Amino acid sequence: MDYSALAELLYPEITETREQMEAKFPPRQLPEGAKVTRMAPSPTGFMHLGNLYGAIADERLAHQSGGVFMLRIEDTDQKREVPGAVGIILDVFDHYQLRFDEGVTRQGEQGAYGPYRQRQRARIYQTFAKWLVQQGKAYPCFCTEEELAAMRERQAAEKANFGYYGKWAVWRDRPLEEVKARLDAGEAFVLRFRSTGDPEKRVKFTDLVKGAMEFPENDQDVVLLKSDGIPTYHFAHVIDDHLMGTTHVVRGEEWLATLPVHVQLFQAMGWKLPKFVHTAQLMKMDGGHKRKLSKRKDPELGLEFYQRQGYCVAAVKEYLLTLLNSNFEDWRLQNPDAPLEEFPFTTKKMGNSGALFDLEKFNDVSKNVISRMDAQQVYGLLTAWAKEFDPDFYALLTRSPEYTMGILSLGRGGKKPRKDIASWSGAKEYMAFFFDELFTPAAPDPEERLTPAQQKAILEGYLPLYDPADDNGQWFEKVKALAAQLGYATDMRAYKKDPAAWPGSVAEVSGVLRMAITGRKNSPDLCDIMKLLGPGRSLERLRRAAENL
Ligand code: GLU
Repeated sequence: MDYSALAELLYPEITETREQMEAKFPPRQLPEGAKVTRMAPSPTGFMHLGNLYGAIADERLAHQSGGVFMLRIEDTDQKREVPGAVGIILDVFDHYQLRFDEGVTRQGEQGAYGPYRQRQRARIYQTFAKWLVQQGKAYPCFCTEEELAAMRERQAAEKANFGYYGKWAVWRDRPLEEVKARLDAGEAFVLRFRSTGDPEKRVKFTDLVKGAMEFPENDQDVVLLKSDGIPTYHFAHVIDDHLMGTTHVVRGEEWLATLPVHVQLFQAMGWKLPKFVHTAQLMKMDGGHKRKLSKRKDPELGLEFYQRQGYCVAAVKEYLLTLLNSNFEDWRLQNPDAPLEEFPFTTKKMGNSGALFDLEKFNDVSKNVISRMDAQQVYGLLTAWAKEFDPDFYALLTRSPEYTMGILSLGRGGKKPRKDIASWSGAKEYMAFFFDELFTPAAPDPEERLTPAQQKAILEGYLPLYDPADDNGQWFEKVKALAAQLGYATDMRAYKKDPAAWPGSVAEVSGVLRMAITGRKNSPDLCDIMKLLGPGRSLERLRRAAENL
């Protein structure tokens, strides 16, 4: 077979040689050890936690080493493409403050290794495809869908492996004339790789996360270019990652299955393999079992969820880093205030089996992150979220910024800041009692150990004592005096020794006041809260609670 003639027949319009094309993408001049990574999403309109998880690894590896982080749009599958999807991808990068150095931006493309949208690289792929045909490493296949389906049926009947390989690779060695006749008849073809792999033999391979691995060689003649001349993922990524100088391919472990194909393609091109970092799947516990996060069942998989619920960027990134690197949490304990960028991220500390995403743990991380912010910062983020997602709450928060700042300052700062807020939507519930529009007085608590009469006595006894000028010490002295007067224990040590000797302690007494004012058992310092609410509203709530008993 004259492979050059075949190549000419298939791709007459491709005039550049492989060498000329490669010369357009010269090796990068980067310092020793600099890593080049890329985030390569498909524009399907759905950005999920796994995308962000990988992007953080990409970004850290590149920027920590003085390298380059690219955004490449993998739009080869037109059927899955959704209008506006690239905008959604760019929004995610903006929102999570992941700065990329090259790729698709809102202002067009940036960088010398583009185009960065795969469909615009069709000529590039075809140039290398033509070269493969010239080498006898690729060939056209004119099988129709029906023929492939029929082949599948025969394979099932013979209990043979499915696919296009060996004797089933019916277009492997057809004569040039037959190809010409089909082309003249205007028939469509796909370009297939001529695999020389033998599944009895093993390919050895080292992944930076999974370690040393072995697979049977691939014997399938996979499709390189589809009938519209657009490549499959397999071919496109090999060409792109080589030309763009990617040093580390970070991608989901679902690609491990086709890694033998990719290794084969790099070898067929005579190119060095990049380093591969196959990231663990994100899992969750469900009824005692670990399972993959699912788009259908788990809203927390979609990145939109975090924006809508009002989780802050720093918290999401911080939690994903705890999943990405096993030593991150220890580092955070030692460096509570350091920016994330100071953490020495490494592929060595990445887990090689499913990363467990635990919403409760994430909330704890988020509470910690927010507890370290100052009130001004919280105010800015909270109101920005509310403006977009909860306009009524926004109106309350901004009615008196000073008042809201006062609320947000409670229990903040110091060695042990309070950790009440995990998300901005959750902040609404936490802050509700500060706003009459949102405050709902507590319903009677069946667990309350004091009788309604005892509670009433506390509330009524306290009313004449309250003086807004009191400081926290004076405030508490008065509560204590009232407790003593009503026969409650004020010496906690004595009380703990013999709780039955009193109807309760000063803690129960202040608990009744707290419930009346805030509607909850746990709150920041009650004296501070009453000061913020002001004497009018505080006394009114105490009175109303007493009346309702
Ligand atoms: N477009 C592929 C995906 O979205 C990218 C895989 C890769 O990073 O190579 O899964």
